[in-house]
Amino acid sequence: MTTVKQMFALQELDIILDRVQNEHDRAEYELNNGDAVGNLETELERDAEWLQETELQRKATKLEAATQKERSESLNSQLYGGEITNPRDLESLEREASNVLQLVEKQETALAEITRKIEEAQNKQSELESKLGEVKAAREIRQTELRASLKELSAERAGFQGQRSKLTEDLDPTSLQQYEILRKSKGGLAVAKVERGLCQGCRMSLPTHQQQRVRGGHQVVLCSSCGRMLFLG
Ligand SMILES: [Zn+2]
Repeated sequence: MTTVKQMFALQELDIILDRVQNEHDRAEYELNNGDAVGNLETELERDAEWLQETELQRKATKLEAATQKERSESLNSQLYGGEITNPRDLESLEREASNVLQLVEKQETALAEITRKIEEAQNKQSELESKLGEVKAAREIRQTELRASLKELSAERAGFQGQRSKLTEDLDPTSLQQYEILRKSKGGLAVAKVERGLCQGCRMSLPTHQQQRVRGGHQVVLCSSCGRMLFLG
């Protein structure tokens, strides 16, 4: 006959097995997820693309600024060269020269701004690169740790599973099934200890006759409040 004591022992083993399995799952999850390296690499790629585009923009702005500057110089030499004397022509030339000069200043300001942004991005890029190096090194160490711990946990689990098979060999299938169902429905606790007349599963006090039946130890007694198997520890 299967005794509550055997099922309590089984439960203790199952609690350990659950803990080992949880640790194993957590380590496995960490090993396969939370890829800070991948995130940094994506960020670096995006920044590199932005830099490439902005570098092109800078070249175009520089070219445009140079063109306008040339135009401004040529207008100035016309303006002060003495060849144009008609006041009306001079006036319109002066207006044009002033417009172009404004344009040159605008382009140069834009160029300075783009150059500043590029320098900023380059600094960020080298920061990210050194951070990536650090993160990669740390990840390698952590992965080695995790792999070692997974190996250990697997061996531990196999050991406990072996113990469990041995234990369940002596249990009758009906009791085992009852235990499994209870454990699933009662938050992992199918067998509850009785201490000072209280069921430790639900903390309710047990009627005297129930306590006596548990003490007798001839049958599986279920707690009248929570339905767990009662065990006098
Ligand atoms: Zn109870």
